[in-house]
Amino acid sequence: AKGRWDSIRGAGTRDEHPRTIFDEILARRIPSDKVYEDDLCYAFRDINPVAPTHILLIPKQRDGLIGLGAATAEHEAILGHLMVTAAAIAKKEGLNDFRLVTNSGPGACQSVSHLHLHILGGRQLSWPPG
Ligand code: IMP
Repeated sequence: AKGRWDSIRGAGTRDEHPRTIFDEILARRIPSDKVYEDDLCYAFRDINPVAPTHILLIPKQRDGLIGLGAATAEHEAILGHLMVTAAAIAKKEGLNDFRLVTNSGPGACQSVSHLHLHILGGRQLSWPPG
């Protein structure tokens, strides 16, 4: 099924919300530094890293998930898959310790309206976040 969401149906973003730059990445219309991919999700390095390892993990099908604040029970499967995949990516990157962040809404500094998990690691992280 690889490629199923990539171009035929516009990267699988079949919802009523405006497209984002992540659709362009999923459709390979703009390049990205891919870290992992499966039928459901795609991971790539953040263009503006805030830690030595800074990876974004996104669902290929947005399905209304413009941010975590839009999550419903219908999204349980993909959200679970993203969490488990994030842990596997962190392990593959050699991160014993890491942070998983999702910013939801402008008050949390969300800038792209397509759910994404930030996988951060490779340095001592502080708490609380800014
Ligand atoms: P947010 O601010 O939590 O919504 O995260 C969006 C992230 O996407 C930011 O960390 C940006 O640096 C990152 N970003 C935006 N455009 C690109 C791109 O074209 N490639 C890789 N990362 C991007």
